[in-house]
Amino acid sequence: MLRDLGMIALGGLAASGIGWILRERHRDRKVPILSGWPRVVIVGAGFGGLRVARGLAGADADVLVVDRHNYHCFQPLLYQVATAGLEPEEVAQPVRRILRGIPNVRFRMTTVSKVDLAHRQLLTSDGPIPYDYLVLAAGSTSHYFGMPHIAEKAFGLKDLNQAVALRNRLLECFEMAVSEKDAARRAALLTFVVAGGGPTGVELAGAIVELIRLVLVHDYAGLDVKDAHVVLVEAGPTVLPTLAVSLQKASIRALRQKGVDVRVNCPVKDFDGENAYLGDGTIIPTRTLIWAAGVRATSVDSEPALPLDRSGRIKVGPTLQVEGYPEIYAIGDLAHFEENGKPLPMVAPVAIQQGEMVAENLRRQIAGLPLQKFVYHDKGTMATIGRNAAVCQIGPLRLTGFPAWVMWLVVHLVQLISFRNRLLVLINWTWDYLFFDRAVRLITRD
Ligand SMILES: Cc1cc2nc3c(=O)[nH]c(=O)nc-3n(C[C@H](O)[C@H](O)[C@H](O)COP(=O)(O)OP(=O)(O)OC[C@H]3O[C@@H](n4cnc5c(N)ncnc54)[C@H](O)[C@@H]3O)c2cc1C
Repeated sequence: MLRDLGMIALGGLAASGIGWILRERHRDRKVPILSGWPRVVIVGAGFGGLRVARGLAGADADVLVVDRHNYHCFQPLLYQVATAGLEPEEVAQPVRRILRGIPNVRFRMTTVSKVDLAHRQLLTSDGPIPYDYLVLAAGSTSHYFGMPHIAEKAFGLKDLNQAVALRNRLLECFEMAVSEKDAARRAALLTFVVAGGGPTGVELAGAIVELIRLVLVHDYAGLDVKDAHVVLVEAGPTVLPTLAVSLQKASIRALRQKGVDVRVNCPVKDFDGENAYLGDGTIIPTRTLIWAAGVRATSVDSEPALPLDRSGRIKVGPTLQVEGYPEIYAIGDLAHFEENGKPLPMVAPVAIQQGEMVAENLRRQIAGLPLQKFVYHDKGTMATIGRNAAVCQIGPLRLTGFPAWVMWLVVHLVQLISFRNRLLVLINWTWDYLFFDRAVRLITRD
């Protein structure tokens, strides 16, 4: 009986594998038809840009996606790359792979330096790219509030390179601490300061402390792990300020239980590579400051200048068109779209929903139909603090602890791009959960 079931399962797997191979071969045979249609150029293959591109599949438009990287990155899991939980390729996918099989959409890897509005063209590292319609979806970048030492010496977490650099750094500090005879210098090597109590800072601080206390403690048996110190520093009065007060308190409690030293009302003022200087006069000896305290819109230079808000986001109207430029749309972190007198937050669901709306509006604009107004549907907010601990707010529902953590896992797994990545991440998470391990403890630079 069991053997029969096994044969049936194997047969099913083989059939679906053959089906998949045939579909892939068929996709590759499609020939793009790219003439006579209006040219839509999308800057950025992030959450927003990709939604526009996919939403224009089969439209009467010649679509070109440009990005300075050849991959799409799932930023919400970058902190797991930085803390040796996931491989870079598990949270990213080549854009060409994602767009393969959509005949009217192409990709070019290049960096956009300027938008020449008068001539309707982008100036790029590869030369000019003309457009009839333009979608700006270039995301955001770290904001250091005019603190040059922090900008120069702190670690960021905005892309894959930064995540790998941080992973190298965390592990290197432990290697250096092993041979450091001086106790104070050893303690500084094993002190990690995370600036910013938003979701990125909270998730990162929780993950670093678990990496140390659950995994590295066994690798570095000669080191006293009590020397290791993870400090989360937040300028405001609490962490996760956009969540309900009960969830903020639950997060601080969970972080402290896991061993994170949480300090609120305490901005980081400076960092010289040896010490972090806090607003209350405290000096923390540390070699590693991680900056998760501020983001601002990616600067998109244009001639003449596009209308910007004070944080550099491009002002868009109800249809997501840039004020004064009906042929240009801006979405996601880069766009200032006001709802109830406030700009929407810089989160993935905003970029995704705006991307879907822009694809629809472009189809309408090309067909000469009236455009639709964008309305944001907030589906909730969540953050994980580590193993079995998370907070989750969906409408009136508030979850903490294990149920919130399971919900966080499911939501992030489902949102990952490609079945392959989902499978690999699921395997890694299961392994790490069962064996208290982090498989990617590699220092990968000379
Ligand atoms: C560490 C981290 C964790 C996060 N966690 C969450 C979370 O848990 N939940 C959540 O909802 N949101 C989270 N966010 C925010 C979320 O990732 C962003 O809101 C979302 O990525 C914005 O989408 P976007 O399309 O506007 O920009 P992005 O996804 O950032 O894409 C922008 C793209 O533009 C490209 N680009 C930029 N400049 C140029 C240029 N000059 N030329 C060519 N290409 C360019 C970039 O390479 C990038 O691919 C997190 C962000 C970070 C950094």
